[in-house]
Amino acid sequence: MRTFRRICVYCGSSNHVDQRYKDAAFAVGATLAQRGIGVVYGGGRVGLMGKVAEGALSEGGDVFGVIPAKLQALELGHIDLTELFVVDSMHARKMMMAQLSDAFIALPGGFGTLEELAEATTWTQLNYHLKPVGVLNLDGYYDTLLAWITHASGEGFIREQHTGLISSAPDIDTLLDKLANAEIPRLHQWVSKI
Ligand code: AMP
Repeated sequence: MRTFRRICVYCGSSNHVDQRYKDAAFAVGATLAQRGIGVVYGGGRVGLMGKVAEGALSEGGDVFGVIPAKLQALELGHIDLTELFVVDSMHARKMMMAQLSDAFIALPGGFGTLEELAEATTWTQLNYHLKPVGVLNLDGYYDTLLAWITHASGEGFIREQHTGLISSAPDIDTLLDKLANAEIPRLHQWVSKI
């Protein structure tokens, strides 16, 4: 069973979402802090991102933001994080977020969240890292993504052993348990069958 020092949280930057998403994001940050797990995230104060950071800080947790200079300029004010890394590009940011983290969680979000989730999952699939990935499936938010995985697998685009690469749970405690026990297929187990 794995233990986690820091977990990367991907989530929506939109403020125009139902309050229950914001409350859940705050609770995720608070829970991670209570469990002694540092939060790595995109560094912004907007949307669910800001709520995750606020939640973790409210419980005295460590929060590491990684933000490209261009996006930092768009942020109105800032949250007093444990550390804010300002980097040159989106690529540098995603690399650093991944390197700092032992696992990845996506909360509800849009294109940016989906892209980050897909990238972390691809890197796990290809064993660039061996770090588990999961989605917080709040009120079934990610049901359609999980259904797409089943569809893509049925059509032969995702291998059977990779259909479980993204763990899913409706609450953060269950999700953390799943991530701690997630099995990650090793390259040699499937690459010869390409
Ligand atoms: P989206 O799901 O499209 O709202 O994008 C959210 C993801 O993209 C976050 O996990 C961030 O890493 C990144 N992102 C999008 N907008 C911002 C912003 N204004 N400040 C910092 N990061 C952002």
